[in-house]
Amino acid sequence: MSFARVVGHAGAAARLARAAADGRVPAAVLLVGPAGIGKRALADAFAARLLCAAPGAGGACGACAHCTRVGAGTHPDLHLVARDPERRDIRIEQVRELTRWLTLQPLMAARKVGVLDDAHCLSEQAQNALLKTLEEPPGAPVLVLVASSAALLLPTFAGEAETHARALVLRDLPRLRELGADELSRSAQALARGALDAGLATALAWYRDVLETALAGDAAALRNPAAADAVRLAARRLSPPALLRQLEAVYDTITALEKNANRMLAVDTMLLSLRAIERGAGLDASPWKSSR
Ligand SMILES: [Zn+2]
Repeated sequence: MSFARVVGHAGAAARLARAAADGRVPAAVLLVGPAGIGKRALADAFAARLLCAAPGAGGACGACAHCTRVGAGTHPDLHLVARDPERRDIRIEQVRELTRWLTLQPLMAARKVGVLDDAHCLSEQAQNALLKTLEEPPGAPVLVLVASSAALLLPTFAGEAETHARALVLRDLPRLRELGADELSRSAQALARGALDAGLATALAWYRDVLETALAGDAAALRNPAAADAVRLAARRLSPPALLRQLEAVYDTITALEKNANRMLAVDTMLLSLRAIERGAGLDASPWKSSR
């Protein structure tokens, strides 16, 4: 399948085709949108284009040894992960197998290409395993993630406390770099005493929005559409590796709280870590690493 046959994705398809033609293929490509609009077809076309020996302006040639194998599902450098139909999520073992496979040398093509369908069905554990790989991609493999925007971690915010926590997070994370010690401490106190779960879920949604916008541009479907302008600004300012570390710092805080860490201390430390990453201070700012 060539890019031209993908329906409804003219902008995204054109961007991917240009990136491939220019040899500027990112380590991870995220295709997000509602189910049934051809994201997977676009992912397959892009994977075929990357592996093809004689790609043209329209994408993969469809005739070379690579294309023949891609068509038959037997290309050794293409790996597809999808949810088992009888399961609700993608198993952690599937992700571990994929990440192991991505570290191997390509057998036939210039690079290995992984396609992860149903990425919105990754368990939290599987997401973390994947994030670590994306952070340090060995060699030059390309991972194409396909996800519907529908089923991500953003809960519905009903009560006043939840609304307040959400507003606080969306006010402070975009300007974290400029927050002084007093302001940061006040934010931590307000979050720790309020609807902390909602605040942390909003923080996850914020960093995911910014990361996806940094990776996919305006094609990303936002969990916080009201914060679209701030998300775009942050996506220009922050690198994907920094954003992955910030996401990890939020995940680690959630894990620490599940193990009954002190709320005030955990949130204060998290905000300090997030700010340190934003200011470029320290690659390993996550405070909970040593306790794992
Ligand atoms: Zn070909």
